[in-house]
Amino acid sequence: MTEKIYLKNPYLMELKAKIIDNQFKDNKFHIKLDRTIFYPHMLEGQAKDNGFIDGIKVLDVYEKNNDIIHILNDMPTKENVDLSIEWSTRFQNMQQHTGQHILSASFDKLFNSKTISFHMGKDLNYIDMSIQNLNQRMIDKVETFANQIVFSNFKINSYIIDKKESLKLPLRNIPNQKENIRIVEISKLDFSPCNGTHHSKTAEVGIIKILNWYKTNSYYRIEFLCGMKALKDYRYKNYLSKELSEILEVNSDNIIKTIERFNSQMKRDKK
Ligand SMILES: [Zn+2]
Repeated sequence: MTEKIYLKNPYLMELKAKIIDNQFKDNKFHIKLDRTIFYPHMLEGQAKDNGFIDGIKVLDVYEKNNDIIHILNDMPTKENVDLSIEWSTRFQNMQQHTGQHILSASFDKLFNSKTISFHMGKDLNYIDMSIQNLNQRMIDKVETFANQIVFSNFKINSYIIDKKESLKLPLRNIPNQKENIRIVEISKLDFSPCNGTHHSKTAEVGIIKILNWYKTNSYYRIEFLCGMKALKDYRYKNYLSKELSEILEVNSDNIIKTIERFNSQMKRDKK
């Protein structure tokens, strides 16, 4: 079984490890290590880490029977190898995943609504919520509450417990594992079974921004971004609003009114 160092220390960027197995499949090397800092592909909704093993680019990482397998184009020449992960990707993935826990906890605390699933995409994350009704006022309330948790800079701990101990905790969702359940706890506020990489303090998440929400089938989908990704989105939207102001020759508060006026003028002209 590969020792998952990323769970014990998600801030570790470099590590020495030993190759314990390798298989050649589809023209690529599938390498099993005794321990790793590479987070696997889409486990717990989280995206994989990027990086290198002995200077060779890691193409993909996946979990198989509790082992972590790394896919490479070339085989390292030594048994003992140097691993390095790309910190900017790990950090941004932690921001999205810890941000999701905070957002899901906020929905749970304010409206007793449960998170059905979480997806971390390249440009957008979403959670699917089981809730009867949702409106913009509720969304704004959840967003404010979530950001207050961030700004409070609460401690985040993770620890392994057994089934009996897990029954004593107010878990937000049911654990997948029966034993050795890993709990991610935000300062007595939120207890969630999870095998993701998380920050040690909530402030590192940065801003949590809900971008869109809509009903789909029997649940609501909430699209959001956190931290650096939210900043990039804000930068782009600020640029858009500035550009529109210049084109329409109005200040940003009057953009909508001006476009509405143009729209009705166009409809009148068509008639
Ligand atoms: Zn999680």
